[in-house]
Amino acid sequence: MGLYAMTGGATGIGGELRKQLLERGHEVISVDIKEGDIIADLSNREGREAAIAGIRERAPEGLDGFIPCAGLPPVARPLGLIPAVNYFAVVEMAEGLRDLVGQRRGSMLLVASNSAPMVPKDDPYVELCLAGDEAATIEDISGKDGHTAYAGSKRAVTAWMRRNVVDYAKAGVRLNAVAPGITMTPLTEQVYADEELGQAMRDFGDMVPWGGTAQPDQIANVMRFLLSEEADFVCGSVYFIDGGSDAMLRPDDF
Ligand code: NAD
Repeated sequence: MGLYAMTGGATGIGGELRKQLLERGHEVISVDIKEGDIIADLSNREGREAAIAGIRERAPEGLDGFIPCAGLPPVARPLGLIPAVNYFAVVEMAEGLRDLVGQRRGSMLLVASNSAPMVPKDDPYVELCLAGDEAATIEDISGKDGHTAYAGSKRAVTAWMRRNVVDYAKAGVRLNAVAPGITMTPLTEQVYADEELGQAMRDFGDMVPWGGTAQPDQIANVMRFLLSEEADFVCGSVYFIDGGSDAMLRPDDF
């Protein structure tokens, strides 16, 4: 049985993945701002450092996997919180835990989104994320909109994953990402409650080829597979779990 560390295990997709791993006899160290083994606010450096230290203390012999699932929706304010949690916390924690996961030839599974390709790859905000300049990124996004803040943070996480596959593989870490479509979680409820973005999300849900929205278990089932030994040769992949919506929007890109 494995030992996994994750963030965002209190609710939604992360809550479901945590439940599934525990049900199968794995151990899970869960970091969250609300409830978990380690309570930490990952929007700031102190919280991230405390989370890394807490995980290292609980896993001195390494981890089989790390899943940074914590994320904030496009309606979160101030807008700077979105890249802070969705991008910078992910990268900082992955870097801080790389040796622990490498120790067991384990896997890191990042949580992107089917919205990631909706922001151009040369968007200055995405480039600032990837350059690692958190203060400049937060300043840049404060004049933009929630959709760009969210989708751009997910584009950056995906690009960071692809750019780091070789180095992480050499360090014994299999890196992959999932890109879920609309999934019924507290995050989505917050977006639905927003007049403008809620309507846009509902309209998008109506167009999904394989029908509507996902439940958290439909995402967690695939994540659990990607973390398992059965997926041992899957490395550097972005798994769209979105009812076909990415293929609908970008049929010639893969
Ligand atoms: P959720 O709101 O249910 O879960 C997010 C979790 O992150 C919560 O447990 C929350 O407490 C935690 N969190 C938020 N801010 C934090 C902080 N500052 N420090 C520590 N923990 C914090 O949402 P979800 O939909 O399950 O989202 C999980 C992941 O899936 C996110 O990264 C999200 O962007 C991504 N995602 C969700 C959807 C969707 O439609 N729900 C689609 C694509 C991607």
